[in-house]
Amino acid sequence: MSVLSNHMPTAELQALDAAHHMHPFTTNDELAEKGARIITRAKGVFLTDSEGNEILDAMAGLWCVNIGYGRPEMAEVAARQMMELPYYNTFFMTTHVPAIALAQEIAKLAPEGLNHVFFAGSGSEANDTNIRMVRTYWAEKGKPAKSHIISRKNAYHGSSVGSGSLGGMAYMHAQGGLPIPGIHHINQPDWWAEGGDMTPEEFGLARAEELEAKILELGEDNVAAFIAEPIQGAGGVVIPPQTYWPEIQRICDAYEILLIADEVICGFGRTGNWFGSQTMGIRPHIMTIAKGLSSGYQPIGGSIVCDEVAQVIGATEFNHGYTYSGHPVAAAVALENLRILQEEKLVDRVRDVGGPALKAGLESLNDHPLVGGISIKGMMASIPLTPHKESRAKFATDAGTVGYMCRERCFANNLVMRHVGDRMIISPPLVIELDEIDLLISRAKKALDETYAQLK
Ligand code: PLP
Repeated sequence: MSVLSNHMPTAELQALDAAHHMHPFTTNDELAEKGARIITRAKGVFLTDSEGNEILDAMAGLWCVNIGYGRPEMAEVAARQMMELPYYNTFFMTTHVPAIALAQEIAKLAPEGLNHVFFAGSGSEANDTNIRMVRTYWAEKGKPAKSHIISRKNAYHGSSVGSGSLGGMAYMHAQGGLPIPGIHHINQPDWWAEGGDMTPEEFGLARAEELEAKILELGEDNVAAFIAEPIQGAGGVVIPPQTYWPEIQRICDAYEILLIADEVICGFGRTGNWFGSQTMGIRPHIMTIAKGLSSGYQPIGGSIVCDEVAQVIGATEFNHGYTYSGHPVAAAVALENLRILQEEKLVDRVRDVGGPALKAGLESLNDHPLVGGISIKGMMASIPLTPHKESRAKFATDAGTVGYMCRERCFANNLVMRHVGDRMIISPPLVIELDEIDLLISRAKKALDETYAQLK
């Protein structure tokens, strides 16, 4: 039996990690040369690593630790639930109180008409559920040809075969035979990177109209659904121009296309409302949830489904489910997370206090020679780096080179900011205090200064 501990030398743990542990989105060479950063504990918005560094986590883990780290209530609920009922499934006409209570609470928080929850273990699994659910819905309605799903380039919907196909990441499609048939990708509404000389409004409309063109190309009788993140996260925090979502909604309504909003990042307060769909003014039939549902304390995801789709899907047996659908410990922990979010009014706080403070802080970086302008909604932000602000020019180096340099300078200054290409990404725990936002901004500025100095 292994007896490793946080007290062992970092290099020894790193060597064992490199020898036996396969990491997502990482190369063996990186692991062998640098060694993975070992996180030993976390509290509030701070991580501690095996070298004793106190690191401000401006990414809330992977966009998920909305209530912050180290909440004893969450551990207590998990322990209690494990003692009472550590596991039982929700297949074949069985259920338990944590799953019932969580589904009820989610339905209460979700927009009107979205009253049903199909649980999964993650966002990827939930999006796989969505593929089968929308196809089954149309088949049950006597329209089995309505099976194609339209998504967008540079979208992220997960890593499984189905959800990775829904996603529009070319580097993921390059591995493992993705996308599966019947999934199509239109262009994304990323004005900063792709808008050229158009105004954001013109560009938003043009990109939305690509959905209509794709539906007409495939035939409206062949299209089941359109899936999109209200605000793209992993694609670089892409906040669509104002004209985009109203036009998408019009097109989905006009052609009877189900709208799936992937709320895995946007959900549970990140954009200043409970759901990004509310922030962007859309009316989805299905919402994908995970991450902020449990603040990452337990793996859990799901699909929130409108009355009409749930009724049709449930009319015959939906031959789909996961061993851990509605897992009692994960459900109890998620319920406690929702209690904390509500009791501490964290969604209002994002909208009225934390979000505006983060915006003001980030905008103070606008004068920096590398910063091409701030994009922010609630507590989800990006800083595009550029050699020339006015033209939104790209660096001569390979995309991502400068972003990577800046990320490394962030680490060196005890700040976690992620880079997507040459964009820096920020998505802190929603509980971040105002003085912690100041610290985040001062560390970010130092990292930007050091990156700029390296480029000279
Ligand atoms: N959908 C979106 C919008 C995401 O950002 C992610 C993960 O980052 C997923 C789905 C996949 O979720 P998971 O990693 O829990 O499978």
